[in-house]
Amino acid sequence: MNELTDGSIFVLNDQTLGVIKELGAHMPGGFFIYQAQEPERLLYVNKPVIDLYGCEDLEDFKKLTGFTFRGLVHPADFDSVSASISEQIRTSDEHIDNAVYRIIRKDGEVRWVEDYGHYVKTDQYGGVFTVFVSDITEKKEEIDSSIADRQAALDTLSESFEKAAAERITFSRVAQTLASDYFSIYIVNPDTDYFVEYSSTDEYASLGIEKSGEDFFNLSRQNMARIIDPEDKDRFMAIFTKDNVLSIVKRDGHFTTKYRLMVEGRPTWVSTKATLLEDEDGRHLIIGSNKIDAQMKREEEYRARMEEARDRARNDFLANMSHDIRTPMNAIIGYTNIALGSPEDPVLVHECLNKIGSSSHFLLSLINDVLDMSKIESGMMQLNPGECDLAAVLHRIEDITSQQAQKKRLQITYQKSGMKHLYVRGDELRIEQILINIISNAIKYTPEGRTVDLLAEETGPGRPGFNRYRFVIRDTGIGISEEYLPHIFDSFTREQNTTINQIQGTGLGLAITARAVEMMGGTINVESRVGEGSTFTVELELEESEKSAGAEQETPDPAQMLGGRRILLVEDNDINAEIAQMILSQFGVVCERAADGQQGAEKMRALAGEKGERFAAVLMDIQMPVMNGYESSRAIRAMEEEFGDAYFRMVPILAMSANAYDEDVRACLDAGMNAHIAKPLQPDALLKLLCELIE
Ligand code: ADP
Repeated sequence: MNELTDGSIFVLNDQTLGVIKELGAHMPGGFFIYQAQEPERLLYVNKPVIDLYGCEDLEDFKKLTGFTFRGLVHPADFDSVSASISEQIRTSDEHIDNAVYRIIRKDGEVRWVEDYGHYVKTDQYGGVFTVFVSDITEKKEEIDSSIADRQAALDTLSESFEKAAAERITFSRVAQTLASDYFSIYIVNPDTDYFVEYSSTDEYASLGIEKSGEDFFNLSRQNMARIIDPEDKDRFMAIFTKDNVLSIVKRDGHFTTKYRLMVEGRPTWVSTKATLLEDEDGRHLIIGSNKIDAQMKREEEYRARMEEARDRARNDFLANMSHDIRTPMNAIIGYTNIALGSPEDPVLVHECLNKIGSSSHFLLSLINDVLDMSKIESGMMQLNPGECDLAAVLHRIEDITSQQAQKKRLQITYQKSGMKHLYVRGDELRIEQILINIISNAIKYTPEGRTVDLLAEETGPGRPGFNRYRFVIRDTGIGISEEYLPHIFDSFTREQNTTINQIQGTGLGLAITARAVEMMGGTINVESRVGEGSTFTVELELEESEKSAGAEQETPDPAQMLGGRRILLVEDNDINAEIAQMILSQFGVVCERAADGQQGAEKMRALAGEKGERFAAVLMDIQMPVMNGYESSRAIRAMEEEFGDAYFRMVPILAMSANAYDEDVRACLDAGMNAHIAKPLQPDALLKLLCELIE
């Protein structure tokens, strides 16, 4: 007796075998019983089994199979099937098994069968299998092909798993470094748009953002539209597109944007950063987001502090400025009163006038610096490159600074080394301004009896067509402290000790100088030790100019050039007109005045057809009532066509204006004027220009 797993009793003996045979004959599918113990043999097969093997009857079947189990199984499969059977027989008294193997039919056709057997031990036959068998050839083909498909799918999958695993190693390195900073890291394939979240905290789980999927950018944009602070939405949407992120990442190495997320109704600052990982496996964008509330707060505080510092600096500046302006103004007014009160003492009057002159010059340089600085701060300072004669620049610098040094009883030396290319293209005035600022400081901050040296050297060729120049200004003055040195080029700053020393200054000169050097693509450096002195080094690369050394013209003698010539002065302001007239009359110029642009144009018109001596030049103010200088100049130039007289095109018109910015100069030239001179008028400059313009 044997108990089967389902609890039913199965007793196989001759009698029951008879019953089974009876039942088996009516079973629709194949059924057979075989004795597993040697001599292994079949005990029973039903009709469907005989049919399965393509046999006509039992006898036929017995002939084909020897009525053994071995005879039923394809020789190629028998060993594996029987090995599994004997293993089962060895390890258990009863069990159910399932096997798939091939059979060979009587007609030679090979078919697949599945057998489903019960193994039991019986008293009479020992271990027997009662087996249900069915032909699964067609089904197996289906299964096989689906298995093949599945295998292929599996292969690709495992390949991609391997790849993914490899990637994850790379990513994990990246991610590990990022994970401490980022609350979420996405890995996005920009070519397939597939994305997966590499790591995230649960912090923003409530926002309901997908962890993986397709179409990363579209999905992110949809999510963002829902959770971003409305104030940041438009900007974010405009920049967070795949194309833009990729192009910025390619250009800058990374893409970063800051925005606010609405978390539980409150805006939270988030920074999202994307970088691109590119290797033989393809491209992956790694997109990490971190919370930057604390950072933004710090930035906000920093901004507020800077704002405060700037306000303070501005207030200090205004206080300083009013002091700096009042001091020379005080001198000007004071000495003017003294001179007026002592007309009988020409020596005193002369001394007063000298002092008025130097205070006025200081005031003018202060005003120029402030204007320059405000241009720099508003980003409007421009260079005016043109022909530049370095020899002339150095000559003028020597003229001006040697006088300053002399006054201060300083020894100043000027050295040149290797200056082969003296004609360059550059902004001559700015180059001069740079060097004069530094040398004037050196003189200013060096006590009596000590030395200041200027070395100008050409250090060699630069880019094709360019040469490099170095200007070293060394003084043995008070020096600059280590703390102040890093701020020396900041605007409106001055070292404390110089204010205490009562040395006049605005703290603007070096800021302007440094900016001008920077605009020329050059460098400025300073080394200094308190009490020992300072060394400023300016390096510039300047383009060689075609103008040859021989082209320099002798400056004509103004008295000779201008004596007896008629000049039309168009100026509405009486004082300014008088100053100009006085300067010109010293050189024998006959000056005729028009009080505004319209009168000026009329005086010119009156010359049409006149044969005698006409005006040799026009000095034109710009801001005037009735008609300004631009309109007046245009009107004069238009007379050429009206009267068919080239004089109106040729006559030099020289603009005189307090508007001395580059764009003002350009506007004058555009209106048909020949040159521009800034007010207040410097007599030397005015005469030099007039001589150049009048042949
Ligand atoms: P300032 O009008 O005050 O001279 P600058 O911008 O030209 O303004 O210079 C800024 C500050 O740098 C000066 O106030 C001074 O403290 C310091 N400085 C500039 N040049 C020298 C120098 N050659 N020696 C010592 N200190 C200098």
